[in-house]
Amino acid sequence: MSTYTRQTGSTVTLPASLDEAVAALATMPAAVPVAGGTDLMSAVNSGLLRPAALVGLGRISEIRGWQYADGNALLGACLTHARMGRPDFAALIPALAMAARAAGPPQVRNAGTLGGNIASAAPTGDALPVLAALEATVVLAGPDGTREIAVSHLMAGLDPLRPGELLAYVRAPLLHAPQTFLKATARTGPGRATASVALVLDPARRTVRCAIGAVAPMPLRPLEAERWVAGLIDWDGSRTLEPEACTAFGDYVSMACIPDPADGELPPALAHLRRTVAALARRALGRALS
Ligand SMILES: Cc1cc2nc3c(=O)[nH]c(=O)nc-3n(C[C@H](O)[C@H](O)[C@H](O)COP(=O)(O)OP(=O)(O)OC[C@H]3O[C@@H](n4cnc5c(N)ncnc54)[C@H](O)[C@@H]3O)c2cc1C
Repeated sequence: MSTYTRQTGSTVTLPASLDEAVAALATMPAAVPVAGGTDLMSAVNSGLLRPAALVGLGRISEIRGWQYADGNALLGACLTHARMGRPDFAALIPALAMAARAAGPPQVRNAGTLGGNIASAAPTGDALPVLAALEATVVLAGPDGTREIAVSHLMAGLDPLRPGELLAYVRAPLLHAPQTFLKATARTGPGRATASVALVLDPARRTVRCAIGAVAPMPLRPLEAERWVAGLIDWDGSRTLEPEACTAFGDYVSMACIPDPADGELPPALAHLRRTVAALARRALGRALS
């Protein structure tokens, strides 16, 4: 583990293992972990954050790759978007690879990590709806050992990161079935999502799981729409649906995520967003079943 002091007076510690990183955070409670720095350094540069000390995670090789574990993939928190976008990863978890390829411009994808995306918990985080649809869990490492919780609990604030805890791994099921991620942005080229959808088929459980990103503080799961459409699919046969059913699914999802107000009409901007969500969900289902 190496430590140095920057010109600004803040200390930077570079642990070589997860245990060292947890120990460094335990001895410096004011220290902030930093992975790719794409979110954190923007906050520092704009004066929103003045960390007294940083614990850099970039040298911890055990959390930069992935491994197989009982039908799941155990993904290191420091996997970059660029790495997840490569074909070998896309063969494993296609929707996460699609989200990684859509996450900002190349320089952000080269540095930005899966763990940083989760810890930042921005509504526009592209990995988040995919992890929600996969029903992934996170392994957290802290001074009292490790614990594993649902990503959705972390994102909803039901079970937040405790002091000194780090995101170590994400456990994602390997479903061996079609899955997709689609994103709408306000401009052409790389941009933050105005709405996104992740959709996965789980033939073993005969379920369709869908999560909508960017329209609320955390990804939304339209559970009734998922159950309804899963009941229409011939899981032992062709697994195709009529276009009208895909359209109805899109409408069902969008109404669930952006409901009508109790009184009055939906404002035009929200009505537009609802149409966008409907189109994304319809297309995502169509692609997964094609
Ligand atoms: C120009 C630009 C465009 C972007 N576009 C997109 C986009 O289209 N889609 C998208 O999803 N994101 C986008 N982002 C956001 C960003 O790139 C991602 O959220 C990225 O995944 C963050 O990862 P990082 O490693 O850089 O996190 P960092 O900046 O290093 O850290 C972010 C936060 O997470 C904490 N943290 C990091 N790793 C851990 C860990 N292992 N355990 C505990 N806490 C941790 C840090 O303390 C910090 O609070 C964009 C960012 C920029 C600057």
